[in-house]
Amino acid sequence: MNSLSTNKEICARESEVLAKTQKIPYCPISFKSGKGALLYDYDGKEYIDLLASASSANIGHGNEEVAEAVKEQMTNLAQYTIAYFSCKEPVEYAEKLIELYPGDNNKKVLYSTTGSESIDAAIKLAKGYTGRNKIISFNGAYHGSTLGAISISAISLNMRRKMGSLMPDVHHFNYPVCIRCPYGKCEESCNLECLKEIENAFNLYLAPEEVAAIFFEPIAGDAGIIVPPKKYVQALSELCKKHGILFIVDEIQQAWGRSGKFFAIENFDVEPDIIVMGKSSGGGLPMGVTMGKTEIMDSLDAPAHLFTLAGNSTVCAAALKMVEIFERDGLVEQSKVKGEYFKNKFLELQKKYDIIKDVRGLGLSIGVDLTDKVTTTKIIYQCQQNGLVLISLGESTLRVQPPLVITYEQIDKSIEIIEQAIKDFLDGKIPDEVLSVINGW
Ligand code: PMP
Repeated sequence: MNSLSTNKEICARESEVLAKTQKIPYCPISFKSGKGALLYDYDGKEYIDLLASASSANIGHGNEEVAEAVKEQMTNLAQYTIAYFSCKEPVEYAEKLIELYPGDNNKKVLYSTTGSESIDAAIKLAKGYTGRNKIISFNGAYHGSTLGAISISAISLNMRRKMGSLMPDVHHFNYPVCIRCPYGKCEESCNLECLKEIENAFNLYLAPEEVAAIFFEPIAGDAGIIVPPKKYVQALSELCKKHGILFIVDEIQQAWGRSGKFFAIENFDVEPDIIVMGKSSGGGLPMGVTMGKTEIMDSLDAPAHLFTLAGNSTVCAAALKMVEIFERDGLVEQSKVKGEYFKNKFLELQKKYDIIKDVRGLGLSIGVDLTDKVTTTKIIYQCQQNGLVLISLGESTLRVQPPLVITYEQIDKSIEIIEQAIKDFLDGKIPDEVLSVINGW
């Protein structure tokens, strides 16, 4: 085996040994360490992280308290499967999650090891509980990579090509993307025409009493950090209630304070039947959570959704320490306040540069639309070269989701790097060759 000690060596070797479906191409960078919102690559270069490992490192990198909790648990007993016997840590973590769930505490938790598996759990529970088979989800949704989660996603043909038949009876509708309203409406004239598409379907071809669940991202993440109107989310939840359909929210990307509330759905004053989480839920270790009302969660018998390593003690020990830090350091509030600060900085940039078309988001979940794919790709390339971990969503949205512990100085520095990249782009200093390095989705 070659010794791998530089960015270049690691990235070159990676493409030889790791299957390509797990990589969306950006600049060849390999991170060695991190602290808070800072990262260091194998060549010793420092970066500010605006991606938080795809919103899975909300607490920041290199947290010593979490590392200590992991070490202690690993030394005592790394894990013992809860499939057959019981462990304290997954029970304590479930108690904490139930406390955090909006509404009463008559809830239960089902563990998986990834967000995608937790989506599959929600699909199974919805079918099991309602005895119905049909599922509604949205165009632009990313719900994950297991076959169930792929079936209800609608964001990339590469997720479906060569897959043969996926789960049948899934119906996709338009997400409320107000900035590109297909009905030409604005906030004042909007009569929730996009919701009427679902109601029409209920009258014409999709019997509502056969629909088990609607899967909804409270902020459409990978579709470009799209925040839906509150009245839409409330009406959608009411529509579910009216027809006995479960309202299931995918909080995998937006929970853990990302949107300035612990759960993004709390921005809309709606209580979902099931919440699905992943990413940041394991304090940096793999964890998936599906939780909801007790009667729904207990509608399936073992082993309908059971994984040997799910809810294992080491992950739960890390997660419990993370919850403690979240509460002690007020990380949800930090997201809200710093998010406003960051968004305002982008709005100031927008006044100076026509290529910034839209700035939106809640808390530290911010999307910034640029003119087109080429512009976005070149600017992202330049940012990555200049020490900023920034990627895009869709054709032309900058994805800004840093660890919640990012400092104001780091936010200011990020804006400086982005502004310099915009200037370099406008001065024609970023060559077309970079378009073959970064491919995006
Ligand atoms: N749902 C959403 C909204 C996501 O952003 C993701 C991950 N990008 C998933 C589901 C899948 O999570 P995982 O990759 O942990 O399986």
